[in-house]
Amino acid sequence: MKVLIIAQHSEGVLDATTLNVVRAALAVSEDISLLVAGSECRAVAEDARYLEGVTNVILADHPCYESLSAENLASLVAELAPSYSHILASANTFGKNVMPRLAALLDVQPLTDVLYIEDVDVFLRPIYAGNLIAKIQSHDKVKAMTVRTSAFPPVTQRTEACSLEVVDKVFDLQLSRRIKIEVGQSERPDLGTAKVVISGGRAIGSSENFKLLYSLAEKLDGAVGASRAAVDAGFVPYDLQVGQSGRVVAPELYIAVGISGAIQHIAGMKDSKVVVAINKDADAPIFDIADYGLVADLFDVLPELEAQLC
Ligand SMILES: Cc1cc2nc3c(=O)[nH]c(=O)nc-3n(C[C@H](O)[C@H](O)[C@H](O)COP(=O)(O)OP(=O)(O)OC[C@H]3O[C@@H](n4cnc5c(N)ncnc54)[C@H](O)[C@@H]3O)c2cc1C
Repeated sequence: MKVLIIAQHSEGVLDATTLNVVRAALAVSEDISLLVAGSECRAVAEDARYLEGVTNVILADHPCYESLSAENLASLVAELAPSYSHILASANTFGKNVMPRLAALLDVQPLTDVLYIEDVDVFLRPIYAGNLIAKIQSHDKVKAMTVRTSAFPPVTQRTEACSLEVVDKVFDLQLSRRIKIEVGQSERPDLGTAKVVISGGRAIGSSENFKLLYSLAEKLDGAVGASRAAVDAGFVPYDLQVGQSGRVVAPELYIAVGISGAIQHIAGMKDSKVVVAINKDADAPIFDIADYGLVADLFDVLPELEAQLC
């Protein structure tokens, strides 16, 4: 078995989720190559050589990979694919963009959102918004997989570097072009990796009221999330949405404030270690999965909670 991981990186830094993907790959094989494709990205490749578990780093450095466009990248990976049994990427927007294209080029069935690797060809993945876990056996020669990074702990660094191989294959398909990137600026920890997440629902009522959550998050060094109803109402931007059609989070502590607990929301946070729910309706479904529940009005509780944290 040989695994190829497609590294995600930006501005010269390897994305933290790649470390979780390496851990997933270790469940398949100890022969792990990591592809760093991009433009002027040698420094990222050099750093990646020190990742626990990685046995070879492949560098494809060319301007055509600058935006990591799925078309160019999938073509490059397809070219490398015959040497590998498994190809992995994170189950985030990056992986979801490139992996289906790669699977189509290889004529294999993509295996998405893998939560657990039982054997080299047997995988667990959620279905029906996470209400059921399917066990899937793949007979494809190459398994093209995205893995849910919250299900695998990150690998660490080691002191010895692995080998670095440079490939000069150029796939400049000119099918798409990046015009600009707008990165949301936040002083808070990233929602996907924060140890504490405080999410607000429709009941928060306005962007102004969301400040109650931001100020609590500040005290707990946490990130702020939201239900889709809060996002749809325009209280917060979409990148804070937690759930089936938003981010999947698994923090140490998840505080759901004024969120009913629809299955689509639960799909994005049910792997949290401890769940606290604040809702004034004692029958709200969020209490079914909460470790601690408070039946109360959020506008009474939040200021009190914050005062206690001073
Ligand atoms: C295909 C699809 C994908 C979806 N994807 C997502 C997703 O990714 N994420 C997501 O969140 N949803 C998603 N949804 C929407 C989901 O079904 C729910 O509609 C949504 O999660 C509800 O958000 P909410 O809990 O904030 O609102 P509501 O369901 O309206 O709940 C508000 C809660 O606040 C409580 N409340 C009201 N006032 C107070 C108060 N003063 N103090 C305390 N509690 C109070 C109420 O008792 C109620 O339980 C999706 C739906 C579909 C169909």
